[in-house]
Amino acid sequence: MTRPIVAEISRSALAHNLRVARDHAPRSRIMTAVKANAYGHDVQLCAPVLAAAGVDAFAVASLEEAETIHALNLGKPICLLGGPFAAEEVSVAAERGYWLVIHEDRQLRWLENRAAQQDLQVFIKVDTGMHRLGFAPERLAEIFAKLQVYPHWQVLGLMSHLARADHPEDPFNAQQIGIFDQALQSFSGQTLGQHSLANSGAVLALPAAHQYWVRPGLMLYGLSPFADRNGIDIGLQPVLSWRSEIVATRQLQAGEWLGYGATWQAPAACRVGVVAAGYGDGYPRQLGTDTAVTVAGQPTRTLARVSMDMLFVDITHIQADIGSVVHLMGAGGPALEFMAAGLDTIPYEMSCRIQMRVPRRLG
Ligand code: PLP
Repeated sequence: MTRPIVAEISRSALAHNLRVARDHAPRSRIMTAVKANAYGHDVQLCAPVLAAAGVDAFAVASLEEAETIHALNLGKPICLLGGPFAAEEVSVAAERGYWLVIHEDRQLRWLENRAAQQDLQVFIKVDTGMHRLGFAPERLAEIFAKLQVYPHWQVLGLMSHLARADHPEDPFNAQQIGIFDQALQSFSGQTLGQHSLANSGAVLALPAAHQYWVRPGLMLYGLSPFADRNGIDIGLQPVLSWRSEIVATRQLQAGEWLGYGATWQAPAACRVGVVAAGYGDGYPRQLGTDTAVTVAGQPTRTLARVSMDMLFVDITHIQADIGSVVHLMGAGGPALEFMAAGLDTIPYEMSCRIQMRVPRRLG
């Protein structure tokens, strides 16, 4: 018997969310962001499901992540969103056929040194206002002039990233889209026309940003990029269901203390379940008391401090015992978005923080 904790990954929810993305951007191809281990969902499980469901390409943050997907042999292009991080990576990328996103002069130098004679497909990243990665639009003429010297290289298209797509009504989006469109007018002819701008927020709410490629990540996991709506509210299905079980119970009398620090005192006689999940699994320690949780299908709350491997739930008024299933987060329990809001963070961080100590399993 292993520790009774699992994060189940729903095949059907992944496929459903991909269909939602397609319905919103019917003329675009879908490059799914599966970086950071598929946002903590386990890329080894998710990527094959997404490939079978018809995704067109994968986007990752590093060569290591690309190699993980390559080893799965899924036959889909893999794009390194941050380009190469070192000269040595360029030859590997060229050999494998990974697409590189070029955003810095030193990357161009690495390409010239390492890959002048190799076939290479690249995106040119343009900074449309987020000021994270990308060449300033004024520099694009010079960058394209440099690239023309190398006939083995193909520029798939221009790429940029939106800073405020989680607030689609913000005029900053129109500004970024305008700058991108202007760059396209000048340089589209020097590329294969496979431009890309939209993340999840833009796939869902900014059709003007849908180009040849859309690059959704979060929405594929059933999570909403918008602070005022959960994934379920916008037609998505949560992919992750994080569960554990009650492994011990306690009857406390009024005035008795519970857990580390003796910080929680029973106001009246109560029954407590000890659950095999803790901050060592990625359950936030700050959510120790009064956080929603579902035990044997019934809503209740956490109590006292979260330990590394255990936490407490209130089972005073519900039917529960040793072996009862506890839904901690995601499908069957409180929404990840809800948990994120309680911690003043975003669902991206909530799913990424679930440790690989929690076995992922396809369901
Ligand atoms: N494209 C880039 C460059 C990104 O950094 C990300 C995620 O952070 C995405 C696409 C996917 O964004 P989202 O998960 O909001 O859809």
